[in-house]
Amino acid sequence: MPSTPRRSTKQRSIVLEIVARAKTHPTAEEVFTIARKKLPEISLATVYRNLHLLAEEGKIREVQFEGSTLRYDGMTMEHEHFCCRSCGVVEDLPVSLPAATVASIQSQLGAIIERYSLDYYGVCQRCKESAA
Ligand SMILES: [Zn+2]
Ligand SMILES: [Zn+2]
Repeated sequence: MPSTPRRSTKQRSIVLEIVARAKTHPTAEEVFTIARKKLPEISLATVYRNLHLLAEEGKIREVQFEGSTLRYDGMTMEHEHFCCRSCGVVEDLPVSLPAATVASIQSQLGAIIERYSLDYYGVCQRCKESAA
């Protein structure tokens, strides 16, 4: 099938574009729903495969939160997340741990910390206000 390489490149670039544009940290199913509008012949298996490859290439990140399926993040630089336990919204936060804290954890462990991730859980502003 000579058309396969071009088609798979197109599928991969659409999957990447969806994840990069979404600020919602979509699941594979959510990416699939959007991708199908642009490429009706795309399958969920293809979306999964491309998400996995893009994550391996470091173009997107896989993120997992308590009580949620695997999600995908188009923001590849280090950052942290807030996850609302009520509506499931995931918000991006800048890295907040001071370098001195990381250095002190590192020396306590006697190890080298190469990366870390910090997830905050709670109730988002919208849910908080609608409950009040
Ligand atoms: Zn919420
Ligand atoms: Zn994120």
